[in-house]
This record gives sequence, structure tokens and C-alpha cells, in this order.
Amino acid sequence: MQQILIVGAGFSGAVIARELAEAGLAVTVADARPHVAGNCHTERCPETGVLVHVYGPHIFHTDDAGVWDYVNRFARFMPYVNRVKATVGGRVYALPVNLHTINQFFGLALRPDEARAFVAARTQAPAHGGDPANFEEQALAMVGPDLYQAFFRSYTAKQWGCDPRDLPASILKRLPLRFSYDDNYFFHRFQGMPEAGYTALVAAILDHPRIRLELGRPVTPAEARAGAWDHVIWTGPLDAWFGHDLGRLGYRTLDFERFTHTGDWQGCAVMNHPDADVPYTRVAEHRHFAPWETPAGSVVVREYPRAAGPDDIPYYPIRLAGEQALLARYAERARAEAGVSFAGRLGTYRYLDMDVTIREALEAARSLISARKTGQAPAVFLAGAV
Ligand SMILES: Cc1cc2nc3c(=O)[nH]c(=O)nc-3n(C[C@H](O)[C@H](O)[C@H](O)COP(=O)(O)OP(=O)(O)OC[C@H]3O[C@@H](n4cnc5c(N)ncnc54)[C@H](O)[C@@H]3O)c2cc1C
Repeated sequence: MQQILIVGAGFSGAVIARELAEAGLAVTVADARPHVAGNCHTERCPETGVLVHVYGPHIFHTDDAGVWDYVNRFARFMPYVNRVKATVGGRVYALPVNLHTINQFFGLALRPDEARAFVAARTQAPAHGGDPANFEEQALAMVGPDLYQAFFRSYTAKQWGCDPRDLPASILKRLPLRFSYDDNYFFHRFQGMPEAGYTALVAAILDHPRIRLELGRPVTPAEARAGAWDHVIWTGPLDAWFGHDLGRLGYRTLDFERFTHTGDWQGCAVMNHPDADVPYTRVAEHRHFAPWETPAGSVVVREYPRAAGPDDIPYYPIRLAGEQALLARYAERARAEAGVSFAGRLGTYRYLDMDVTIREALEAARSLISARKTGQAPAVFLAGAV
């Protein structure tokens, strides 16, 4: 039987392991952490019984029916719709910016067409006459200065630690602006939460007789190279594989300030705090991510973003021009490596939602299996890295 080593037991590693095991390969999955599910890990708070998303809130949403069927094979999903609020200047508004937000913010009672015209009259095209060249220009062209200042400017500066004029316009193109009262954060057809949490879901994916799981086991690149593995799949940071020898790919990390409370703290799962004088970006109250449960207590977490140092958990890849250039150099070297493939959010240095992570992992496994059948060298994956 062929032995494959997969480094990382998040969704990427788990889904690839399962597919390879089902195809008859023997797989060892090693993770430095004492639990599976990577950053999607959930665990019960011993004090309150609340199911906590330990590395930040995770909501499963997708348009990919194949991925939705896949996760439903391993867990029962409960209905969940992500509705986010924002506290701005001492008032609470609905997000994403929608007809309700516009009417609340300007103290109006506009219908959709009226609101569209009202916002359009406030928008500002870039003074240089071209397309919006950065986040701020894009925001001003989409929503005008009032909504930009209130909901986007300081939130974005806190999230990314830089002036929004230094960020690409493409970040804002992805944020929805609606002229209806639909405040469902996501457009996707399928949305829900695994009833027993993400860790139980990933543990079920890994539960296969041909998968050996080693938790609490950091794997160094030297160990992975030296082992008698037939092939290695690395879902850790791409630059870590090369000992960061060209420099570190930049990430933002999060500090979590966690406290418990009796009863309901804020009345919703996520409250954003875009104001500049509030040092955190958002507050998550985890009992609301499992609305079918009725715990007496509550776990509340404030999120403070900052630049990630070498010992911090990397959360959001920065991917500005400098990082893109460095990524291109690492990706070129990765393609020249034999016996290893790079996958997942860290292995390809991208922000990936869970559904995209799973789709790419399924495709990666398929390409590895077909390469082995045809006797070719396995692909390096690195989908979309550059
Ligand atoms: C704050 C935040 C919120 C998010 N919210 C959502 C959401 O609401 N919905 C959504 O769809 N997606 C969300 N995501 C994205 C989601 O977290 C990712 O899609 C998912 O974690 C990717 O899985 P992965 O396996 O690629 O990476 P990870 O989950 O990071 O797993 C990688 C694993 O590799 C292990 N590892 C790394 N290096 C080594 C090593 N050398 N040796 C051993 N083990 C190693 C790590 O310990 C880790 O467990 C969010 C992401 C963040 C940062």
C-alpha cells in the first residue's frame, strides 16, 4: 500500500486524506494542534456549555451543490442565516448595507428605486477620471462619502492596519450593497451550521480505517522530506516549507478578548464596530451561532486585528503588491519541488472560504489519484496561488 503524509488536519488535509483513503491509499495525517479542523475548530466552553468557534466565527455557505452534499454526508446541518449588525456613533444598523441601513442612517423611508437614485446622487467618481484605483475610490464611487465614512473607512483601516487608499479596489467590489430589506449576509443557495460543530464534522471525514491521525505533532519540512513517504501534501504555510528563506509572506492575525456572561449579551451573533475610537472590529456572541441550543450562559469574544509576528496564528493573507511578488517567487520554487504538493489556505497563501477549500481539496485528491494511475508525477496543486 502507498504511504502518503498529509501535514495539517484542517478541511484541506481531511478531505484529501478521505478521498485518497477511499481510493485505497494509506494516509498519515499529522497536525501540530491537539485537535482536528484547523481554524474551523469548535469546542464547548466548560463553564457555559456554549459551542465556541475557537479561531473566530465560521458560517458554512455555498452555491456548490456537490460540496453541500459532501459535508452533509458527515454531519447534520442546522438552518442558519448570517445576519450582522453594526454599531456606529451609538446607533445600531443592519448590514450588509441595504435599504434598511440607508433609511436608518439618513432617517428616511425610501423605496428601492428612490434609494438607488438617492445613493447614486451621493457617489463620487475618482477625480483622475479613470476607474477607481483603490479601496477608498471604489467606496466613494459605490456609496458616497457618508456611508463610506460610517461603515467602511475605519473598519477597513482597523482590519488591514493601513489606509484604505493603500488597498486594492477589488476588496470592496466583493461587498454587497442592496436596495431591498434582505439582510442575509450571503447570497448563496445553501447555508447552515453543523449541529455538533466543525470539529465533529472534520473528525467524521477523517474516520476511515486507512487514515492514521497524529495530533499534537508538528512536522518540520526536513522531517517530511526525509521520511519514506511516497508523497507529501503540505497544508501549512508555503513559506514555512522553504524555511522562510526569501522572507515571510505577510498575514494579519487576531487577538481575541473572551469573557462569559449570564443570559444574552448583545442579542445577535455578530456586531461590527466600525468606529475609529473602538479598538476592536467586531464582537461575536457564540450562543447565537447555535440558535437551536438554549444555554443559560454566554461566551462573548472581541476581535482585535494586528500584523502577525512569526509566532502568531496567520489569519488573513495580506496579498498586496510586495507579498504578491514574494508569493510568485515561492510558487516558482514550489513547482520545482519533487514529492510534495501544496494545498489549502496556507499552502497557497489565499483567503479561502470553507466550501472553496473543500472543492479544491476534492480536485487535488482527484488529480493525485489520476496521476498515480497513469504513472505521472503528481501535480503540485497551488491552485490560483499566483
Ligand atoms: C477569522 C476567520 C473567519 C472565517 N470565517 C469563515 C466563514 O464564516 N465561512 C467560511 O466558509 N470560511 C471562513 N473562514 C475560512 C476558513 O477558516 C478556511 O476555509 C479553512 O480554515 C481552510 O482550511 P485549511 O485546511 O486550508 O487550513 P487550516 O484550517 O488553517 O488548517 C491547516 C492546519 O495545518 C496545521 N499545520 C500547519 N503547519 C503545520 C506543521 N508544520 N506541522 C503540523 N501541522 C501543521 C495547522 O495547525 C492547521 O490545523 C474564515 C477564516 C478566518 C481567518
